[in-house]
Amino acid sequence: MSAARVKRGAGPRSKMTKATYRKKALRFLLKDFEGRCAYCLDPGEFRHPSQTQVDHFNCKLRERQRHQYKNLMLACSACNLSKHDKPIVNPLDKEQRLLNCTEENEFPEHIVELEDGQWEPKTKAGEYHLESIGLRESCHRQKRYARKRIAEQILNLCSTAIQYRTFNPAEVHNQMMDTLRALLSHLDNFPPLVVEDGVLSPREWLNARGVDVSVLQVAPA
Ligand SMILES: [Zn+2]
Repeated sequence: MSAARVKRGAGPRSKMTKATYRKKALRFLLKDFEGRCAYCLDPGEFRHPSQTQVDHFNCKLRERQRHQYKNLMLACSACNLSKHDKPIVNPLDKEQRLLNCTEENEFPEHIVELEDGQWEPKTKAGEYHLESIGLRESCHRQKRYARKRIAEQILNLCSTAIQYRTFNPAEVHNQMMDTLRALLSHLDNFPPLVVEDGVLSPREWLNARGVDVSVLQVAPA
C-alpha cells in the first residue's frame, strides 16, 4: 500500500464532543488537508472556511470515537451531502469501501484520471468510493478538464515564451491566443460579471471594454 496522500497531524489537544468538534478541529483540518476537500480535492469552498465543512469519515462510530480527530475530514458541501451517512464498507462486499486519504493514496492505486477529466476506478474500492461521493458527476469532470486544459496551455505558453528571444514571435502570439481562449471558456463557468450597467457575460464585458472577442473565436490554421 502506498503512503497516505494527506499527512494528518495530531489535531487539537483537548477532547472533542458533538458540540465542540467543528470549532476545535477546523483550523487543524485546513492545515493538514492544505485547504482542499478530502474527496474531490477542490479548494474553492475553503477560501472562506465555515464550520460546516467538517465530515465524519465513519459516521457509524459511537460518540467518543466519532469525534476523534483521526475520524474527521475536511469536505466540501457537495461531497459531504453525497457521502451523507453511507457505510465506509459495503456489508455485502468488503472490497467495496470508502478510501481514507489520511491512510492511503487513492491516486493512482484505486482511481486514475482520463483525458476528459473523468475519474475512473481501478479497484472495487475505487468504484464504491467514486459512486458513494458522486465524484463522477459532470460538474466535477468539467472542472477537472478545465483546470487541466489551462495548466497545459500555460505550460505551452511558458515553453514558447522562453524560446521567444531566439525564434518565432508569431508562434508566441498563437500560444497566447490559445491560452486566452482557454481562460475565457473557463471564465464562462463562473457567474457573470455584475457591473454598473447590469449583468454581463465575460465576452460582453470584454466587448464593452473595446476588446473584439471575435478574434478569439477561431483557432489559427
Ligand atoms: Zn469535495
